[in-house]
Amino acid sequence: MISARGRVFLALLLGIALLVVIVAFLQRRFGPHRSGLDNPIPIPAPPTPGIANPSPEPSQTPALEPPPVSTSPVPDVYPAPPEPSPANATPNPVTPPPAFVGTLKLIVPVAGVQPNQLLDTFSDSRSEGRVHDAIDIPAAQGTPVVATADGQIIKLFQSERGGTTIYQLSGNQKLIFYYAHLQRYADGLTESRFARQGEVIGYVGDTGNAGPGNYHLHFSIAVVSDPKRYWEGTNINPYPLLRNP
Ligand SMILES: [Zn+2]
Repeated sequence: MISARGRVFLALLLGIALLVVIVAFLQRRFGPHRSGLDNPIPIPAPPTPGIANPSPEPSQTPALEPPPVSTSPVPDVYPAPPEPSPANATPNPVTPPPAFVGTLKLIVPVAGVQPNQLLDTFSDSRSEGRVHDAIDIPAAQGTPVVATADGQIIKLFQSERGGTTIYQLSGNQKLIFYYAHLQRYADGLTESRFARQGEVIGYVGDTGNAGPGNYHLHFSIAVVSDPKRYWEGTNINPYPLLRNP
């Protein structure tokens, strides 16, 4: 038998629980941190910050908590990455690729370019003390860019530095392939499309900070621990992986 005091305590507890639920509901509905999945329209790219902005602003990082109903490890809609891209904010040129990388059999992501034509530009310096952390593959304007491996296209993003870019998540969800300075996307390319290795996903251009007429594909590979934070991976050198697939 519950005592009168116990009943009062229980009622109080229930009241508090109800209040918490109402507050949580209101925050979800009207709060500023809406999850991407609440929104039927993909989150637009953030406004490009000033050029003198070498590091990603934490405030630009969108809310990342997946909704409680989602059980899928890969959300349908990915938030926009914070600038800057393409160079990663935490360069680590000495990171050896994980063992599984060698089993991927990557192909050169530019049509008609042979592995022995590639140049290793991974450790090259870039502006503002950054390291390139990627490979540049020169090619004529409009040359097809193909998927280096099977994997889901998770983000199509207009970046200040990278221009027209694609983020692709490897089939094992451990790597991000990043394609930048594209002239344009392949017709019909959408986020969440699963691209097969060799499939045309875009065309070589000079968008972003490539420099007018400096047509090339900027291509990087990052090891990610969380596919939802796909811009935070550790870049590994694509050169040996494309050279000796
Ligand atoms: Zn580059």
